[in-house]
Amino acid sequence: MKTNNKYDIPRQRKEELSDLAEFIADEHFPDSAIQPDVIVKRNNITHSIADYGRYFDGILQYKNGCFHMFFNTKRIQNIYSAKGRFTVAHELGHYYIEEHRIALKRNLAPSHPSFIDFSSDIQVELEADFFASSLLIPKTRLLKDIRKWHFSMALINELKDKYNVSLTAMLLKYISIGNHPIMIVASENAKIKWFKYSDDFPFTYINATAYFKVPALTVAGDIFYKNSIVDNSDEIVYAEDWFSIWKNEDKGREFYEHCIYSAKNKFVLSIIWEK
Ligand SMILES: [Zn+2]
Repeated sequence: MKTNNKYDIPRQRKEELSDLAEFIADEHFPDSAIQPDVIVKRNNITHSIADYGRYFDGILQYKNGCFHMFFNTKRIQNIYSAKGRFTVAHELGHYYIEEHRIALKRNLAPSHPSFIDFSSDIQVELEADFFASSLLIPKTRLLKDIRKWHFSMALINELKDKYNVSLTAMLLKYISIGNHPIMIVASENAKIKWFKYSDDFPFTYINATAYFKVPALTVAGDIFYKNSIVDNSDEIVYAEDWFSIWKNEDKGREFYEHCIYSAKNKFVLSIIWEK
């Protein structure tokens, strides 16, 4: 049933990265909020913050036996904002994940530009993103926080503020914990850019139209094709509206879809979960 999703990494690898990130988080901040910039300093990694144009959010470079990070003010305001913190944590991923670090040291992989928009299908980028979300939101702490709560957008919003991360970073980590079957689909100009789902999500094939366009009978479809107003509510959609279904009894299964819309980027993030 499980298909390979090129926008995500295998479960076992996620567990390894989650454990590694949590170990580092607890080593540096056993009972306080994670400050990725402090971890950078404690590892004697130098950094520069400047306007580098549109080319990257962050880069980790290895030169003359030293690691150095570059952060781009054109794309992140500062390293303490939710996006800035995630960018620093992502570059720490390239530093701490052994395979990434070895590749950089041996110059097998030249320092590559990292973009923190979750749209990458490059494995090292997906791994650094997952490491980052796991460093900023250590698994054991999150499990404790969600112990008594069912999934809701109110819960996700509360948690994202608590951990000072973006909504997408929060969802990425929440989904990996497998507390409730959830799928997120990011689309731009009606085209599906990437998607991720929890291991127990019942459907994996999006019923996309040609050119991987958003299906029409969805909340995201209403936004793109009917210019409907986004009111940040949970709306009911049916399994067949979003997914290819193979079993008759799946027809009419009710899901919630909650859309976050950015008019500037014509971007929609759909969060979908079973009712
Ligand atoms: Zn990267």
